Amino acid sequence: METQAWQVLDRAHYLHPFTDHAGLRQTGSRVATRGEGVYVWDTDGKRIIDGLSGLGCVNIGYGRKELVNAAAEQMLELSFCQSFFKTTHRAAVTLAEKLASMLPEGLNHVFFQSSGSEANETAMRTIRRYWDLAGQPQRRVVIARELAYHGSTHMAASLSGIPPMYTAGGDIPLPGIVHIKTPYQYRHGPEMNADEFGIVAAGWLEEKILEVGADKVAAFFAEPAQSAGGAICPPMTYWPEIQRICKKYDVLLVADEVVCGFGRTGQWFGADHYGITPDLMQLGKGITSGYLPLSACAMSDRVADMLIEKGGEWAHGFTYSGHPACCAVALENIRILEEERIVETAAAELVPYFRSKLETFVDHPLIGDVRSVGLMGGLEIVQNKKTRESFPYEAKIGEACSTEALKRGLAFRANGDTMSLMPPLVITRPEIDTMFGIAREALDATA
Ligand code: PLP
Repeated sequence: METQAWQVLDRAHYLHPFTDHAGLRQTGSRVATRGEGVYVWDTDGKRIIDGLSGLGCVNIGYGRKELVNAAAEQMLELSFCQSFFKTTHRAAVTLAEKLASMLPEGLNHVFFQSSGSEANETAMRTIRRYWDLAGQPQRRVVIARELAYHGSTHMAASLSGIPPMYTAGGDIPLPGIVHIKTPYQYRHGPEMNADEFGIVAAGWLEEKILEVGADKVAAFFAEPAQSAGGAICPPMTYWPEIQRICKKYDVLLVADEVVCGFGRTGQWFGADHYGITPDLMQLGKGITSGYLPLSACAMSDRVADMLIEKGGEWAHGFTYSGHPACCAVALENIRILEEERIVETAAAELVPYFRSKLETFVDHPLIGDVRSVGLMGGLEIVQNKKTRESFPYEAKIGEACSTEALKRGLAFRANGDTMSLMPPLVITRPEIDTMFGIAREALDATA
């Protein structure tokens, strides 16, 4: 079928996530057909370099047959297995054990679901349940951050700090969630040096804990580096200070590693990169490199022991918790990442190169800030570099730039006014050159 015919059907029946459908009716969708390595092709035969790894998930690149075979073999052997009624299966057990061996110390227990949003729901229910069982039911308040993105279910949207999430439907934010400023140095502390700013920004957590009342705070819930918020990467002093503050007030530390996990920061997990040991950690996306939907909520011994020893039956779970094919694909994905040393190679050979290319944009008249961690980079577009003034919202400058990039064969994500670049971890240096070459052309065409 021709591109246009697909677009007609698409328009008539398919509601897309996070999409202005009236706008889409005018432009039509790009119709993707296949992917290989870091490239995706469309029905017009155009090859596009995927500068956003699908949606921050295709860490291993497209077209790996081993993952397809792992899914097929598992489906032939045991296509589905519930784990509700005293039943388990080998793929889920093996994956849970494998994750426990990889995650920071003490995170020895894993609950599976399908999406990052659901993993965050599990984390929130766990936090509340934990404090009820610990005899401190008054600890209800969860502190999250502005510009956070934790997902689209009611609770995950409430945890998020992106205002349009609150008007998109539902009585959001749900009660018991408060937000603090995020370590966004370009906007909140440009006059400080990075180390100093990290400590100041962590202090906003302590201020909020004291304002709410330390005995009422259940947890601090945050992404190690914020992806959808615009690649906001904290200084190295931030997270250790956050951990210290959480310990001081006995507040649970919850790391949403749905994007940061599985190599994005240059280490296996954001917690490794920033040197923290959370009480709960949510994983998704890169756990299967996006080949099948799976997420995990890992819990420390402290938290899980409480649920197990005092909780009785826990009325929480999903039909697809620990789906066998998804677990088999995750195991195969991790095997390849390990055997091919993809995370380590990216850290040693690609991350410094990626950073050096990003830094060439410092002098661009439209770029106010350049930030990155690992292979997650952000170029913030501003109208006035001196005053840091942004373009008016109606200009939709990020979106305009991404449209220009797509015309030239690069897909990246515009997070507000920030061009977010987060390619698959298997990208090569020449492909990085291509990606940044197109990004520059797109910026120049947007100006
Ligand atoms: N947490 C973070 C940090 C994310 O970036 C996302 C999605 O982009 C989610 C959670 C939600 O994951 P999902 O879209 O799989 O529900």
